[in-house]
Amino acid sequence: MELHPYLKTQLANGQVSHAYLFSGQHASAQADLLAAALLCQNPLQPGQACGVCPACRNLQAGTHPDCRTVEPKDGLHRVEQMRELVASASLSPVLGKRKVCILPAADKMTEDGTNTLLKLLEEPPENAVFLLQAAAPDALLPTILSRCQLFCFGGNAAEVEPELSEELLDAAETLLAQLPEMPLYQVLIRARDYEKDREQQKLFFFALLKLIHSAVKGQHPTEMSVEALLRSANMLETAIDLISRSVNQKMLTDVVYLRLWQSALR
Ligand SMILES: [Zn+2]
Repeated sequence: MELHPYLKTQLANGQVSHAYLFSGQHASAQADLLAAALLCQNPLQPGQACGVCPACRNLQAGTHPDCRTVEPKDGLHRVEQMRELVASASLSPVLGKRKVCILPAADKMTEDGTNTLLKLLEEPPENAVFLLQAAAPDALLPTILSRCQLFCFGGNAAEVEPELSEELLDAAETLLAQLPEMPLYQVLIRARDYEKDREQQKLFFFALLKLIHSAVKGQHPTEMSVEALLRSANMLETAIDLISRSVNQKMLTDVVYLRLWQSALR
């Protein structure tokens, strides 16, 4: 498996976030790939670790001084684990320029633990990158979610595209075309279009995703940058995965529309 193309693009542009939250069946594999890509001293290309430099070898052996995995204890992250994370993240890197902290099962956390993590994410040490993993990202506090870049890898919903009616595709096209000029209040009104029907909402997200995918390939005219398109596609994939679960539909839809709107603004 390779690192997700969007993450590769980020690394190529030197735009690394302080915190990522990965979900889906490939979350752990993608976190390992990103950690390797961030720590490798001689990447083959941005996002692809060489596998042979001292950093890569240390990482493979589980002895890299700048990579720390904090596992939950008895299935739960408590404040002790988060203090461990704080301590480890604030040390200066030894081998390279970054410290990578991997946090599996970030959704299994006590309230105290969550508060400590939140403080850490609010003021992250300069060189630290946090890779959180969660089977149920919607179980995390919105204040934590908002500080992470969210990725869903291999969620089953995002892989199979359903039949999409012309009507829905037209509606998606119209929305994307109008977004850059729309005032905020109107974006929030439009976010209510499919309020009454979770399944229709999900199909509409699929329609938006389809258009964005064709725009990435240059088959659909858009003013959005490729980076903004990839970011939007990723966000929609996560939304499609989340809407199939018991997440609050109104809140999710607001977030999706606002993020699309921000991406469409120039
Ligand atoms: Zn390497």
